[in-house]
Amino acid sequence: MYTNELKSIDISNIKGITGYQKTLLNKIKIFTVFDLLYYFPFRYEDRTKISSIQDGLLNEINITTIVTVIEHQSIYFNRRKHPKILVQDKETRAYLVAFNRPYIKKSLVIGKQYWLNAQFVYKFNEIQASSFTFEAYKTDKQPKEFGMILPVYRTTEKLTQKKIHKIMKSAIQEFLRPIDDELPEYILSKYKLSDKTTALKTMHFPENFILLKKARYRLAYEELLAIQLSVSMKRNNIKAVKKVFAYNKTDLLLQYTKSLPFSLTNAQTRVIREITKDMQSSTSMHRLLQGDVGSGKTIVAVCAIVLAINNNYQTALMVPTEVLALQHYNKIKTAIEPLGINTVLLTGSLTAKEKQAVYAMLENGEIDLVIGTHALFQKDVRYKNLSLIVIDEQHKFGVEQRIALSKKATNPDILVMTATPIPRTLTLTVYGDLDVSVIDEMPANRKPIKTKWITKEGYNAMLKFVGNKLRKKQQTYFIYPLIEESETLNTKAATQMYDNLRKHFKDYTTGLIHGRIKSDEKDQIMQDFKTGKIDVLISTTVIEVGIDVPNASVIIIENSERFGLSQLHQLRGRVGRGIEQSYCILVTTDFYSEETEHRMSVMVKYIDGFKISEEDLKLRGPGEILGVRQSGMPEIRFSEFLYDDKLLLQARAEAQAILDKDPLLELPENRRLYEGIVKFLPTDYLKSG
Ligand code: ADP
Ligand code: MG
Repeated sequence: MYTNELKSIDISNIKGITGYQKTLLNKIKIFTVFDLLYYFPFRYEDRTKISSIQDGLLNEINITTIVTVIEHQSIYFNRRKHPKILVQDKETRAYLVAFNRPYIKKSLVIGKQYWLNAQFVYKFNEIQASSFTFEAYKTDKQPKEFGMILPVYRTTEKLTQKKIHKIMKSAIQEFLRPIDDELPEYILSKYKLSDKTTALKTMHFPENFILLKKARYRLAYEELLAIQLSVSMKRNNIKAVKKVFAYNKTDLLLQYTKSLPFSLTNAQTRVIREITKDMQSSTSMHRLLQGDVGSGKTIVAVCAIVLAINNNYQTALMVPTEVLALQHYNKIKTAIEPLGINTVLLTGSLTAKEKQAVYAMLENGEIDLVIGTHALFQKDVRYKNLSLIVIDEQHKFGVEQRIALSKKATNPDILVMTATPIPRTLTLTVYGDLDVSVIDEMPANRKPIKTKWITKEGYNAMLKFVGNKLRKKQQTYFIYPLIEESETLNTKAATQMYDNLRKHFKDYTTGLIHGRIKSDEKDQIMQDFKTGKIDVLISTTVIEVGIDVPNASVIIIENSERFGLSQLHQLRGRVGRGIEQSYCILVTTDFYSEETEHRMSVMVKYIDGFKISEEDLKLRGPGEILGVRQSGMPEIRFSEFLYDDKLLLQARAEAQAILDKDPLLELPENRRLYEGIVKFLPTDYLKSG
């Protein structure tokens, strides 16, 4: 049996587990034996060394020692009596104070010896410990939780460490005896890796820290190799399919680039060339375009779109929000209409009749470009000859959505775009199946945005500052986390603040936009902001991604503590798009946590999205930011190794070497890689773009 197969065994099958314990484990998302065995301790306590109370006091550390119980006493606290037990190790007498544990005297018998783990402090002129664990000391018997490295799990109050240990031991005994290894013998010996059973056992109950390190390394290597195998197989699958489209004509594309009101940056030109080359090759394009907010990705996408239409194919541009769909539609339609291109908008809020009309035109080929949200891949949508799919802000989509859209065409060319720049090694991991293009240059004459962090104290000065900018005809965004005020959360809301700000800036026009406003109204408001009819736009995060109004030069983000780093960076990217100096002002409540302080300082310090996402990765891990969890590829658990370029590149090279020799993992020595890893990947994932 391979570990992946343990995913289908419910924890109720573990010997000795009670229904109640199962419920408690379910609460911390442990449902299967696999979940349990991969629920690793978050730290380990070294109880191999016997130390002394003195040592604990001197160094202010938790220690393990052997004590004799001398006397039972009591103390009164909160009008209740609590046990206080005098113990002694080789040199020192000290007290154990056991709040609310009246029965403890029965288990700490006077005159008997015990293993004790505790952190002692001086309190009221005594040496005391109030948090401690102990176990009877017997010369003829191995202790259960002493004389070893003790795993410490994240757990809940009712599910004690002791209970988890017991359940874990039982699961290990039953299900790891031994487990089949996913890694072939030749890889184990080549990289000197421990076998799977040993590694998993050691993660929970390590004999020493060297073996523990070895176990982590082995599991991390397996994880990296699994990821690299899966992305490489996916890539090979994609490359094996010949494309049915040809893009020989380029006259319209040239006409379009000539019509631009500015010259492209070098990075944009290079990336357009990479994309054109991909599209004109004999296999489908699967390319990721990375570029920080405001670097000008849209133009690049439009170039690819124009090239496809130039050759009489249909194209689709999918974006995560309706507001962004509207903006792209308005802007792109105007830009390419002169080329004789028909563009249409398709979002969820069209009426059934309007949708039917769009469907009909897509099916009969009247439409060249459709721009929209997830409405683009709904069941009834049929395309006449869709050849190119562009997905903007792709990190906002799940892989299933990408797959659903790509199923609307025969081996289409796919371009996905994101403003989340991530370290190269992580790109190789998460997007290892894609070719990558990077726009690493901002359009000329942009001034870096100035960022400031304020609390209530700076609020009035901020309003005054905004007033000054408004007088100079520069526009402002005010961003709020919520639409309506909520009693439970101490958070400002767009609707209420709209009323306040409207009064405050009564000489100017204010607008309110959020997710619950009707679609055509939203469109009108965004248009009015764009054309300058609205000076101050009060908004929720509906404008988080993609919105482009170059004349807006100030963004105020209220309750900034409620946003993640990447989100703040995206929001900030709404300004700094024109020639004026732009400002981002982060407002937090007065009572901020250390974490908030850290995040705000990162925002103030860095303007570079690359730096910000690095910090974000440190704080939140890659799973959440990049949507790895829902992507279908193996999970990233040992994320600290993701930054280990050497190990990662080694695993990548190994995966490629294996697949070069044995593309479908059919050779006997590679069967376990297939049976233990690849078989468990969703087939959709392996075949999809
Ligand atoms: P993002 O990469 O965030 O999607 P956009 O494509 O929205 O960025 O571009 C941001 C702004 O920069 C837009 O107003 C766009 O017209 C403008 N822009 C794009 N490329 C250039 C360029 N080469 N020179 C000047 N302005 C540009
Ligand atoms: Mg964009």
